[in-house]
Amino acid sequence: MRIASVDGRLKVVRDGGAIDVEQASGGKFSSDPALAYPRFGELSKWAATAGSAEEPFDAALASCPVPSPTQIFAIGLNYSDHAAESGMEKPTSPVVFSKFQSSLAGATSKVVLPAGSVDWEVEVVAVIGAVAASVPVERGWEHVAGLSIGQDLSERELQRSGPAPQFSLAKSFRGFSPVGPCVVTPDEFDDPDDLELGCEVNGVVMQKGRTRDMIFSISEIVSYLSRIVTLFPGDLVFTGTPAGVGMGRTPPVYLKAGDVLESWVVGIGSISQTFVGGPVATER
Ligand code: ZN
Repeated sequence: MRIASVDGRLKVVRDGGAIDVEQASGGKFSSDPALAYPRFGELSKWAATAGSAEEPFDAALASCPVPSPTQIFAIGLNYSDHAAESGMEKPTSPVVFSKFQSSLAGATSKVVLPAGSVDWEVEVVAVIGAVAASVPVERGWEHVAGLSIGQDLSERELQRSGPAPQFSLAKSFRGFSPVGPCVVTPDEFDDPDDLELGCEVNGVVMQKGRTRDMIFSISEIVSYLSRIVTLFPGDLVFTGTPAGVGMGRTPPVYLKAGDVLESWVVGIGSISQTFVGGPVATER
């Protein structure tokens, strides 16, 4: 199953078109995409019987399919080649930070550049589909509703300023967490642990990797997080980025006004962000 949000309404995406969940279910399910995840099993069963698409679907117009997560986690340095380009040791346990809800955006968005050095990080985003507390690794996937595409946009100067890293705020400027265009259930992939992901800036490929190269797999991440916190349906986990970020280049390359960032995961689709000039930097 693929689900999306169009104009804030929950859709099942099928055969290149969409089914409006509230209308087609006669009100059994809400139009609110956030309410899909607490009833994800029921929704999947219903969707299997929901027939064919009734309306066109333009993925570029999809809003964030998970608009109000209780928690947003992100995993740093989860690909060896990216840890190396960041000048960091390969982690022996997941490096975890959070992103904040007001940074979420949909599949196509404009991002106002703050002062500093804004970088890209394409990531597979796991959407939690069931309450998870102390979940063993082998049951990790059972707690995942599906996967989406995300960008973990990062302002590197704030991220590295001060006596300790400032990951969460530096990665949570408004619009810094676009997610979309849809959430795809794990059964839709030949192997949900081996997806190709990548991104390009103005048509030039910057990142291209495979999720099989993650240091900690999605099931390991879910298990690890759930030993400490309780994960709720609709929570998001940004699972880390492969090599090729701007910071790791010589010389470093950062996003500037007018740049277009296209990010894709094979089997899910793509998202597109356009950057516009922010206020002129006078501080820092
Ligand atoms: Zn990241």
